[in-house]
Amino acid sequence: MEIINCRECGRLFNYLSGPRICDDCKKKIEEKFQEVKDYLEKNPNASVDKIATENDVTVKQIKQWIREERLILSSPSPDGILCEKCGKPICTGKLCDDCKKEVANGFQEAFKKPEVAAEPKRKKDNKNRMRFLDNK
Ligand SMILES: [Zn+2]
Ligand SMILES: [Zn+2]
Repeated sequence: MEIINCRECGRLFNYLSGPRICDDCKKKIEEKFQEVKDYLEKNPNASVDKIATENDVTVKQIKQWIREERLILSSPSPDGILCEKCGKPICTGKLCDDCKKEVANGFQEAFKKPEVAAEPKRKKDNKNRMRFLDNK
């Protein structure tokens, strides 16, 4: 165990693992997530900026949830979330489909399957609209 300062409130706490924030802040962020989730259920396709303003949450936090695959953008855009490997705009997570495949192939070269046709492309839309990703 390690004693560190909470990244959110600066308080010292016993750090075990995961995000470097204390339990109080974790709880607050969790409550905020539920608010944003409710908001998105009532306002599907709201933009990231709008969600941030109307729910008093930072764009950074929303992007964090998208990285964690708890939220998903309805269409990728260059000012939204980018693949950590190749920089291509993506809807959720850390990597684009191509890079995900590459990583997966690296792990399981032996189980390679022929490629299936890609999903049809969605209409271009530069606003970071989102919907709630219900994958529990
Ligand atoms: Zn804290
Ligand atoms: Zn990529």
